[in-house]
Amino acid sequence: MSKELHCSDAGMQCDYIAKGETDDEVMAQASQHVMQTHSAAVSSLSEQDRNKFMANARSAIHDSSMHDNQQMR
Ligand SMILES: [Zn+2]
Repeated sequence: MSKELHCSDAGMQCDYIAKGETDDEVMAQASQHVMQTHSAAVSSLSEQDRNKFMANARSAIHDSSMHDNQQMR
C-alpha cells in the first residue's frame, strides 16, 4: 500500500504530492521537493521551526488508498 503526503497538509500553499511505499520514502521525496521549491521559505525558519515543520509533515503522511473517502480520522 502506498503512502502520500500533500505539501499543503504540511502548511505550504502548494499542490505537490509526495508518494512512496514507506514514511521514509515519502519524507525523502518531500524534503527534496521542499529544498527545491520551498527553499526560501524553509531557510528563513529557525532550526526549531524547521524541525517542527518536518515533524508536522511526517504526521500528515497517510495511505493513498484512504484518500478518496477521508474526511475525519
Ligand atoms: Zn510544495
